[in-house]
Amino acid sequence: MPWNKQFECMSLSDLHKFQLSNLIDTVRWLYERTPFYRKKLDELNINPEDIRSLEDIVRLPFTVKNDLRDNYPFGLCAVPLTEVVRVHASSGTTGKPITGPYTAEDLEQWTECTARVLWAAGVREDDIFQNCFGHGLFTGGLGFHQGASRIGCAVVPTSSGMTERQIMLMKDFGATAFCGTPSYALTIAERAEEMNMSVKDMPLRVGLFGGEPWSLAMRTEIEERMGIRALNNYGLTEMAGPGVSFECSEAPGGLHINEDHYIAEIIDPVTLEPVPYGKKGELVFTSIRRRAMPLLRYRTKDITSLTREECPCGRTFVKMDRIIGRTDDMLIINGVNVFPSQIESLLVDIEEVELQYVLVVGKRKHLDSLKLRVEAKKEVYDAGAGRVAEVERKIDNHIKGLLGIHVGVELTAPKALTRSEGKAVRVIDERPK
Ligand code: ADP
Ligand code: ZN
Repeated sequence: MPWNKQFECMSLSDLHKFQLSNLIDTVRWLYERTPFYRKKLDELNINPEDIRSLEDIVRLPFTVKNDLRDNYPFGLCAVPLTEVVRVHASSGTTGKPITGPYTAEDLEQWTECTARVLWAAGVREDDIFQNCFGHGLFTGGLGFHQGASRIGCAVVPTSSGMTERQIMLMKDFGATAFCGTPSYALTIAERAEEMNMSVKDMPLRVGLFGGEPWSLAMRTEIEERMGIRALNNYGLTEMAGPGVSFECSEAPGGLHINEDHYIAEIIDPVTLEPVPYGKKGELVFTSIRRRAMPLLRYRTKDITSLTREECPCGRTFVKMDRIIGRTDDMLIINGVNVFPSQIESLLVDIEEVELQYVLVVGKRKHLDSLKLRVEAKKEVYDAGAGRVAEVERKIDNHIKGLLGIHVGVELTAPKALTRSEGKAVRVIDERPK
């Protein structure tokens, strides 16, 4: 059974013992097998034997995305390629992709982790599970395929795209659960409405969404339009893929981290000093059960905070808050830090628009400027330029009130913005290069 009580409900002292012994094994494994980590550890004058408590983790070196790029494709692989049975890669929108090699044992552990995500959302063997993540190099598709197969659901691997067919199959097969990116869920909801096929009338019960930042506003929108529960889960190629953390259905609001596989830290991205529980900073992971490519203190660039509290589900694993964004996507407008997800949360109160938007960054004189392009609802757009300008002002005031900055707001015609089939593009950079 994927509900692994022995681990997921472990006492803190047992967990810490387990983490420590696996951390030491991992440091030794890397020291002996990867020139990259041997050099880093030698430079810091640390031997695997020097790790005596979990607190010693701060003595270990960080790993950053560029280390993975510099060692592309297999420079960080700690096993010979004969032992690798799968390779995934992240999209790599800038430069070379990030590769993720797996041994057979890694695949097994990853399957356990994604099965836990599904189980905690209430997915069981009698569910019909439609997997709307891309099946291929992207870890979302095959990761959830394995987890759902472990539970024994009837898995329907539709991948993303071909949305009308997707909806037809969802209805005909009677899907009860599905996964994908939150922006693609909204695309499905909207297209179904256009086809006069409300998802609400289908047996669909729960959706597991991740792969990109999304706000609580987006959750409400998806839940209302689809008549389902929408739960959040998180992962990244560098840590195998999905299965790193997940909301449980008993107490959504924070994501339990699979702490028997990943040690989480929050650091200040500037000083690199540890940040206490409850405070936001950059999420850092050390994978302690992987064989092909375990990473020490990997800086994710994702911003969140951690809390350890009793959860009604019984899991003792620490929770991370929903990610507000990546440091890469943070915009600095007139000295104010803005994440796209903050703007998204504001839009829920504006009933004249759809939750379809992009932020366009430009330059005005020497300063960065920000424009929000958001889609008007049909009746608003049809009411003419006066009404459109009125709504634009209303949104601008709303943003000024909450973030303290003015952004140019431009309402577009209905359906003017490209619909997401995977990870939505929320920021367009039009600054002269
Ligand atoms: P990339 O998007 O860099 O090509 P991945 O496909 O490995 O690579 O995606 C991992 C990244 O996606 C994370 O580092 C994080 O920024 C984002 N992500 C994944 N799940 C979530 C989530 N539930 N909430 C917010 N961001 C997420
Ligand atoms: Zn819980």
